[in-house]
Amino acid sequence: MALERKYSKSIGDIIKIKSDFFEKNEEMLRLSAHQADALLAQPKRTVCKICHGAIGEEVGQEMLYQSQRMKYFLCPVCGHVNSEFEDNEDFASRVYIDDDYLANYSESDRRNYETRRDMIYIPKAEFLIDSLKEDGVKKKDIRILDDGAGSGYFVSALKKLGIEQVDGIEISEPQVQFANTMNGDDILTQVDAPDIASIIEKADVNVVSFIGVLEHITNLDEILEALKNNRRIRYIYFSVPMFSMSCVFEAAHQGCYNRHAGGTHTHLFTESSIKYMAENIGFAEYAVWKFGSDIMDLYRMICVSLDQNGNSRLREDFSRRFLPMLDELQEIVDRHEQASEIHMIIKRKS
Ligand SMILES: [Zn+2]
Repeated sequence: MALERKYSKSIGDIIKIKSDFFEKNEEMLRLSAHQADALLAQPKRTVCKICHGAIGEEVGQEMLYQSQRMKYFLCPVCGHVNSEFEDNEDFASRVYIDDDYLANYSESDRRNYETRRDMIYIPKAEFLIDSLKEDGVKKKDIRILDDGAGSGYFVSALKKLGIEQVDGIEISEPQVQFANTMNGDDILTQVDAPDIASIIEKADVNVVSFIGVLEHITNLDEILEALKNNRRIRYIYFSVPMFSMSCVFEAAHQGCYNRHAGGTHTHLFTESSIKYMAENIGFAEYAVWKFGSDIMDLYRMICVSLDQNGNSRLREDFSRRFLPMLDELQEIVDRHEQASEIHMIIKRKS
């Protein structure tokens, strides 16, 4: 089976969804600084998150770069990019706080939910379904567990596309309630973090998905071990943040909110660290879809900087001229394998 590599998609619409990043730069920076404080308070990382090779200044390694007070080290064994400090349980308990969810939802909340699902998550679900079809797996035979299901957008998208055997698990009770209310159906189940590895190990599914989740898992080794041991699981679908152009743009514009490295992202993947992780549990790359937000990040940073230095009028003019080029510029970044995000399906080798 030929390996599929797909690039890009239109990100123009996403700018509207992420408008907070533009309007609330100072607020977002403060949140990010608070999260950095929580990470700086942890013990130094001595081994790589993915391969456990020795990393850091203790072993005489020079940092790769620093941004927003955090140093990053490139693992010489697997190529993973690790922050200087450990993302342990204490860190997680300090930074993962439930958002405020309204007690009453209006019809417009439901419309917004559906718009977000259709714009962002339907394409992710289609990519999975189409890729599995290429490999001879019919829609009706897909049995999927979505881990870290959040507000249920991905599960909801899969259901809308006709996948019946889909379950989503999520730690946050308010998010589960929100997801179930928005869908008018109990599409998600609340679970506790310590139970997730055993849920995965026992799940009667052939696909497990982690959309924007692996990078947040403190006990990643246990989760990967569970995936390896449950041989019913044939495919793993994940998206993760990459060491990419966005990292460089952030390091160069530290008065602008760092969406990508920092905050709850304490380590970044590379093609080689993903390969190491997959092979270590008996899987190999099957399909890849790369589309980053690097150029949108750059665009936002330029806009924020122009506003900060009294050039709001020029910023408006810049927006008009730059936005029509944005998707094409990102496509170039994606094709050069420099995208901030990757969507990948890995397949069990035997
Ligand atoms: Zn490593």
